[in-house]
Amino acid sequence: MEDIRRVYGFGRGIAAPQLGIMKRLFYLNLDRSYVVINPVLKNLSDEKFELWDDCMSFPNLFVKVERHQSLTLEYLDENWEPQSWTVEGAISELIQHEYDHLDGVLCTMRAIDEKSFKWR
Ligand SMILES: [Zn+2]
Repeated sequence: MEDIRRVYGFGRGIAAPQLGIMKRLFYLNLDRSYVVINPVLKNLSDEKFELWDDCMSFPNLFVKVERHQSLTLEYLDENWEPQSWTVEGAISELIQHEYDHLDGVLCTMRAIDEKSFKWR
């Protein structure tokens, strides 16, 4: 992830399946680092917003997707302690992106329409 950040200038999270590790785990690098194990998404808002998403698995592509404005993330942290975190906006869409990886869903599969792709 640090290599991608250095080369492409983005990358706030990575999911274990992107590294070939078939576990329900992702990692976020925000104001601090977060290890998110066995996440569950709750309280997904009816309100949604559109954004140009990107992904370290295909770093030169942007995909326009729609995400829930807010949600509550329940998970176990690196100490196996249960955590609950209510987020919105940029962090909400990031968590939905990483969560999708755990189900084998890529942002390309959530493109709004055929015009929702552009190169970086
Ligand atoms: Zn991704």
